[in-house]
Amino acid sequence: MNSAAALLNTTLAPFDYQPRTRIVFGVNTVDRVGELAKELGAGSVLLVTDRGIVSAGHAARVAKLLEAQGIHVACFDQVEENPGTRCVDKCVELARQCKADTIIGLGGGSSMDTAKGCNFILTNGGQMKDYWGIGKAKQPMLPLIAIPTTGGTGSECQSFALITDEQTHQKMACGDPKAAARVAILDPALTVSQPPRVTACSGIDAIAHALETAVTKARTPLSLLFSREALRLTMAGLPRVLESPHDLEARGWMLLGAALGGTAIENSMLGAAHSAANPLTAHFGIVHGHAVGLMLPHVVRFNARDAATAHAYEEIAQATGVLPTTNGAGSVAEDFANRLDLFLRRSGLPAALKDCGVTEKAIPQLAGEAATQWTAKFNPRAVAAADFEEIYSAALPRRPDRAA
Ligand SMILES: [Zn+2]
Repeated sequence: MNSAAALLNTTLAPFDYQPRTRIVFGVNTVDRVGELAKELGAGSVLLVTDRGIVSAGHAARVAKLLEAQGIHVACFDQVEENPGTRCVDKCVELARQCKADTIIGLGGGSSMDTAKGCNFILTNGGQMKDYWGIGKAKQPMLPLIAIPTTGGTGSECQSFALITDEQTHQKMACGDPKAAARVAILDPALTVSQPPRVTACSGIDAIAHALETAVTKARTPLSLLFSREALRLTMAGLPRVLESPHDLEARGWMLLGAALGGTAIENSMLGAAHSAANPLTAHFGIVHGHAVGLMLPHVVRFNARDAATAHAYEEIAQATGVLPTTNGAGSVAEDFANRLDLFLRRSGLPAALKDCGVTEKAIPQLAGEAATQWTAKFNPRAVAAADFEEIYSAALPRRPDRAA
């Protein structure tokens, strides 16, 4: 059955979609940040970023553009990777000191998560864990502008802040429609400064977002629209930006693809590759995008044992044209898995858990923790601790090199 005929035979799931974030896309659109902040009524901006972004000169450029509009700027440059509650608390302290009325998150997902986390506590009080879940903020929140410098998380289009509880190591997903950015500025020129490893990890993460959202239980006809375009842009863009880091057109594909993937997550959640990745980051320090990339091929194979999910992979491969040559029905998931493996190898990232310090002994604990991650319940196939043990075991050994 071709995809058009398949669509006509599908009952469309109900959905409720409200766009919350204005998206401004294009090379050098960051130059509009002063004007956009002014439109939101900014008088005192808290700029949330990390030291790498300061070194790249992006923070000073944004601060200058804001100051040119008469806006006061305080810069919090202490954002850490996988930000925890202590990092957010320090950020809140500065926000209070400078009497911020607007927040700007500039950087990768961690900067945007910290900015959103800060916004929750600054405007609604209490601690980060009070907002774990959805819709727990009762008071209005400050306007947020998100400026991503990696084409990866799509956090700029999501109302969730992912903050790690320093005591329990749990990643808390704190979501509220009010936490979503009012404006996302997508400027591909800002992403050129990423180190190659960051380009690879964040790009693989963006592909994972597109593919996982396309098959979740929570997917809707609308989220699929975002997943498809996100997959088309990122699968085409990643090889190009790895090859030519200064290719602004391909950087734009990755940045827009990541934002559309983030919009898909907002509407359809994520799946088991993300559940399996989080314990790897917590216990072995594997960077999020790399951890997701290590697990995704094996999750795709696991999910494809379910006929309806195998069909969903086939449908998105056809609709996007990202797998032009397949060996017939049922092999699409395997083709996806091989392509994802190849992206890891081309990026110079280890493609086996074994090469990242993970041992067989660690698997039962990792599997137990993966099964309790909130994203696991949206995976198209039910996935229990025993299934995660199987998935981790498959990801442990090195696999023979395959041709493209
Ligand atoms: Zn991710």
